[in-house]
Amino acid sequence: MKFEILTIFPDFFRGPLDYGIVRRAREAELIEILIHDLRNFTHDRHRTVDDRPFGGGEGMVLKPEPLFEALESLKVAPRDERISAGARESVVLLSPQGRMFSQSVAQQMMGLERIVFICGRYEGVDERVSDYLADREISIGDFVLSGGELGAAIIVDTMTRLLPGALGNAASSQQESFTTGLEQSARLEGEPPSSTCGSGGLLDYPHYTRPAEFRGLKVPEVLVNGNHDEIKKWRRRCALRKTLRNRPDLLQAVELSEEDRKLLREIEKQGY
Ligand code: SAH
Repeated sequence: MKFEILTIFPDFFRGPLDYGIVRRAREAELIEILIHDLRNFTHDRHRTVDDRPFGGGEGMVLKPEPLFEALESLKVAPRDERISAGARESVVLLSPQGRMFSQSVAQQMMGLERIVFICGRYEGVDERVSDYLADREISIGDFVLSGGELGAAIIVDTMTRLLPGALGNAASSQQESFTTGLEQSARLEGEPPSSTCGSGGLLDYPHYTRPAEFRGLKVPEVLVNGNHDEIKKWRRRCALRKTLRNRPDLLQAVELSEEDRKLLREIEKQGY
């Protein structure tokens, strides 16, 4: 998968995409990341990328010309092709006004081969970029950042770990927080069933490692005893408890078994 990032701060990405899974995926050529300096697509002496807003108001706005020119030079598919079913390329504008990014949005975008991210700055980006150039506008959360670069890095990171072969253990990404049954079954095709319970759209269960006792703090007994059925049940219970406590909204979208409902009733009775 090819990720390209258009930014006025190309050096920003020295670091965030150079470690761990993303670094290994780059080295293994599972992904390619290209950073483009928006200022290379300007023609004036000052390499101007911004201008004052029409109609008055605070701050500066990223001009449309360098962005349009940049995408032309990158030879991305025309917008109507990008918005049609089965598209292989996407141009994403990072914006707090965009659709919310999530694990399932990442999963939906995994069919793409190439994504170009447009990182806004200042007060934002001339709206013609959203209307005529980008095919998606994505927000990474209900807060305002000073630029789209962190958002682009977050999306690249999230998508990279979903690529087959990017994680040491292919099963790990199927059991994580937010992963829904739909994604799991799609990814599990032809693979042996997972040894643990899978998140099924819940938050992940707690993880522990050695030592079994640390400063008097013990790892839950059930994990040390090695009874797989008990462990599975305990993990499911923990995932349900944490989701109920921290993200009850997620429970609405989760398919719960009779056993889950029973566990939830118990958890609620115990006041979590
Ligand atoms: N005036 C805008 C905020 C501009 S912030 C507004 O009120 O909506 C400057 C740039 O940072 C944006 O163009 C966008 O690219 C990026 N940005 C800020 N918050 C973001 C978020 N939550 N998700 C994605 N990108 C964001």
